[in-house]
Amino acid sequence: MPKSFSLSKSKILLHRQCPKRLWLQVHKPELAEVDPAAEARFRDGNKVGDVARQLYPGGDFIDTLNRKEALARTASALESGHKPIFEAAFLHNDVLVRADLLVPEASGYRLVEVKSSTSVKDYHLEDITVQTWVMQQAGLAPSRCMVAHIDNSFVYPGNSKYQGLLKEESVDLEVRDMIAEVPDWIAAAQSTLERSEEPGVVPGEQCSHPFPCDFANYCSPPETDVAFPVEILPYGKKMVEQLRAEGYRDLRDVPEEKLSNPKHIRVHRVTKSGQAELDQEAIDAVRELPYPRYYLDFETIAFSVPVWAGTGPYKQLPFQWSCHIENSDGVLTHKEFLDISGGDPRRAFAETLIEAIGTSGPIVVYNAPFEGSRMKELAEAFPDLAAQLLAGVNRLFDLLPLARNHYYHPAMKGSWSIKAVLPTIAPELDYSNLTVSHGGMAQDAYLDLIGHEMSAGDKEGLRKALLAYCEQDTLAMIRVISRWKA
Ligand code: SF4
Repeated sequence: MPKSFSLSKSKILLHRQCPKRLWLQVHKPELAEVDPAAEARFRDGNKVGDVARQLYPGGDFIDTLNRKEALARTASALESGHKPIFEAAFLHNDVLVRADLLVPEASGYRLVEVKSSTSVKDYHLEDITVQTWVMQQAGLAPSRCMVAHIDNSFVYPGNSKYQGLLKEESVDLEVRDMIAEVPDWIAAAQSTLERSEEPGVVPGEQCSHPFPCDFANYCSPPETDVAFPVEILPYGKKMVEQLRAEGYRDLRDVPEEKLSNPKHIRVHRVTKSGQAELDQEAIDAVRELPYPRYYLDFETIAFSVPVWAGTGPYKQLPFQWSCHIENSDGVLTHKEFLDISGGDPRRAFAETLIEAIGTSGPIVVYNAPFEGSRMKELAEAFPDLAAQLLAGVNRLFDLLPLARNHYYHPAMKGSWSIKAVLPTIAPELDYSNLTVSHGGMAQDAYLDLIGHEMSAGDKEGLRKALLAYCEQDTLAMIRVISRWKA
C-alpha cells in the first residue's frame, strides 16, 4: 500500500505550479534556495493579515500551527457564536486548509482570502477554490467567496485607521467554475508524492510564474563554463529562445547575420572583439554640460500597509539622498540626507534637497523618471515647496539613456545598470566591497534602522554603510562622465 501524504492548500498549489516542485519540496527540501523576495512577500502578508484582524475586532484568532489544536479551536469558535474567525482550520481526506477570514452573515460565513497584492490574480482563484472545496466537504460551505486585496488608491489618514485599505471582490463565479476540478488536483498531487523518483519536468514558464521557484538552480544550474551566455542579449527573450533551440550557448558563437536588433548587434560585436565602444554623441553630450553640475541619487521605501499619514500602499517614499556638486575648477563637494527617526522623512528630505541643488546647473541622475517622479510626488505633497521641486525636475539630465544608446563594454554582459557600468570605468569603486551594495539591501538596512532594537554602535555602523552606498551611486556618475569626457 503506497504511503499517503498529508496535503495542505499550499502543497496543492505548488503542484499546480509544477509537479516536480512539490515533489522536491517534500522529498528533497534541502535543495531549495529560498528567494529573499518570497520572505518579503511573507512579511507583507503578515502585516496585511494584522490589519484585517484590526478591521474585524472581536473575532477569534486561531493562532496555533498545531493541526489538532487548530481544528478543535475552530470547531469551538463556530459553536460559540456568530463572530469573525481568523485562520480557521478545516480538514477533509487529510487535506488541511486555513481560511484567512470567515465573516458571519445572515446565510452563513463569508470566506475572505486576504492578499497583499493590489488586484485579484489567477493564482488567488485556485487558492480560494481549494479552500472552498475543503470547507464544503468538512460541512461548512461558505455563503460567499471573496478576495480582499489592497486598494492602491487608499491614502492613510494616520492613527491606525485602515478602513478602506482592503477591497473585497467577489470570486463566486470563478470558484463555481473550477471547484469540480479540486478532487483531481488533490489526486494528482498525491500520486506525484507517492513516486519514488522525481518527476521529469522540463524547466519553462512555470519556473517563474506565479512566483520564482526555489529549485531553479537545481533544475537549471548556472552555466559556469559559458562566459557570455546568449541570455545576456538585452530584451531578447524570443531571440534567446530561438538561439537556444538552434543549439547556441555562447553569444560569441552566434553568426552576426542571425541578429537584427541594433543593440543585439552591438552587444554581439563588442563581446566578440573584447573592445568597448563609446559613441561621439555621448562624449559631446557630457562635454556640453555646464557647471556647476549636480549628481543626485535617491533611496526609497514602499510599504504594503502605509505607516505615515498622507501616504498610500506601495508608494515609493524617499528617505535618503546623496548629491555631489562639481564646479568648473574641478572642486567636488558632497552633501547627503538620511532620516532614520522612523517618522515621515519626506518634508525634511524635500527641504534639504532644495537647498542642496541650488537654482541652476544640470542635475545628473541615472534613470530620470525615478528621481523625477519622486520630486513631483513631493511637490504634490508639499505645495509650498512645489515650485522649487518642479524647477529641479526641469534640470534633470539622464545618464542612463546615453549609456544605453552609446556605450558598451564586454564586462557589462547585457546590463546598463550603474553597477554594471562602473566597474568597466572605475574598477576600484567596487560595490561588492560595500556593506550595503544594492537597492534591496539599502531598503532592508533602512527598515532595520527604523524598526529594530540594536546597539548604538551597530546602528551607527549600519547608518554609515547606508550613507556610503548612496554616495557611491553619485560618485559613480562623476567617474562615468569624466571618463567619457577624457
Ligand atoms: S525550477 Fe521549474 S521545473 Fe524545476 S521544480 Fe521549479 S518549477 Fe519545476
